[in-house]
Amino acid sequence: MRIKKKYRLLCAVLALLTVLVAVGLFWYRADWRFRFYNSIRFYPAPVMTPMAWEKGGISLEELSARGVDSNDLLMLINPDYALPKDFVPLLEEYNGAKMHPQMVEAYAALRDALEERTGQRIYVSSDYRTPEEQSAILAGSQPGIAATVGHSEHEAGLALDVYVKGYGGMSILKTAAGREMARICADYGFIIRYPEGKTEITGTAYEPWHLRYVGNPHATIIMDAGLTLEEYLELYEIGVWYDLGEAYAGRFSPNAIPMPGGTWSGGSLSSDNTGYLFITLKKA
Ligand SMILES: [Zn+2]
Repeated sequence: MRIKKKYRLLCAVLALLTVLVAVGLFWYRADWRFRFYNSIRFYPAPVMTPMAWEKGGISLEELSARGVDSNDLLMLINPDYALPKDFVPLLEEYNGAKMHPQMVEAYAALRDALEERTGQRIYVSSDYRTPEEQSAILAGSQPGIAATVGHSEHEAGLALDVYVKGYGGMSILKTAAGREMARICADYGFIIRYPEGKTEITGTAYEPWHLRYVGNPHATIIMDAGLTLEEYLELYEIGVWYDLGEAYAGRFSPNAIPMPGGTWSGGSLSSDNTGYLFITLKKA
């Protein structure tokens, strides 16, 4: 009887100690808290309203004449989809880093906002990579870590790897700027392209330092709903326009684009790299 009592007491003390250590570590490690919170938070499904459209179609020439510019922002680049062999990235140099011209202002604004909020500055550790540079990275890394040549978003100039001084890779989450970046990057058109728990979908492990530019409203929809780019594109039935609130968007076969209903003025058009065009129209 006494032994049983002692045993119970020992168990209770051990349980209490375990809880105290767990709470202590959790309090000490902001990066763990951040990841835990992300794993349990609720992500509401995005509102995708299919639209009625006017009779007839619209050609690429007409879209261009009505201010729809071509860019590559919605290209899906992953282990299944390689960049086309003849792909020529649109690039602009900023502070020694090469990136898609539309990213320059967005990146500068994100960096400044993070510094203002946290007092910490982010820096670019990897920007555009030539196929040769990607090949060298691949040769120097362990199997399964770096993307094979033609399958990296860095080769399209659409991705940036960032760090805070002294905190690169996963340890960026130990910095306030690294965590805040995940919260506000969508406001600037960026997504955390390889979120935690989605490796089976993206083919890439969690990379809190890898920013991908897709522009808005897409970045905000993706991050608010906790989606990957793969899942986001899947939301679009081919040939259907959707009302996204501030914009109309859809995925279409290049020769079968229905005339969008509603009034719009300008927008952008990107290959999605899976055989369809992704079109975004600004509501007028
Ligand atoms: Zn990267």
